Amino acid sequence: MKTLERRIRMETKDVQWLIKRYLDVEKLFQEFFAAWNYCATKCHVEGNVGCCDFDHFRLGYNLGKDFVTRFEAQRDKLYGRRPSLTERQFPCFYSSCQGCKLKTHRAPKCYAYICVPMRDELRKKYGIEIDYEQMMNCLERILSGELLDSEFSFLKQKIEAWVELIVKIQAKRRTE
Ligand code: SF4
Ligand code: SF4
Repeated sequence: MKTLERRIRMETKDVQWLIKRYLDVEKLFQEFFAAWNYCATKCHVEGNVGCCDFDHFRLGYNLGKDFVTRFEAQRDKLYGRRPSLTERQFPCFYSSCQGCKLKTHRAPKCYAYICVPMRDELRKKYGIEIDYEQMMNCLERILSGELLDSEFSFLKQKIEAWVELIVKIQAKRRTE
């Protein structure tokens, strides 16, 4: 039944349903970066990733104009319209001295990319590996509706497990 419901929603391009699925995963990613808090300690950036060198918040056009328009309209409603090119102070419209202003509605690249030192620490200290290409593909497939329900659940469980592990290891270190 759930599979049928999902197929109908994809075929009728239920944009809101697709966005809701993406927001669920974004929430977990926000928890993950907040628990780890790497950028704040290494680059003195508050909040999450803050080195962004371009407008990576833009979605790929292969998602369809309708989808991109709805997604961006929701983002503008929540975070205000973007400043003009002449007013901007950072390479990305949503960058700030406190890190990224977006708590939701970022693009897949904003979550899939982490710098090399970050990736190394994640692997060495926590035993977690994030493959950029795989994660990008996975997040884009949530938005396009191609990610299977089983893959979606697996991804969510994986990020939840990462958060749990980071919190546990950090708590242990504090008592050592
Ligand atoms: S991703 Fe890396 S370079 Fe960018 S702000 Fe975080 S720690 Fe700094
Ligand atoms: S939206 Fe945020 S995370 Fe994405 S590129 Fe811009 S500042 Fe970076």
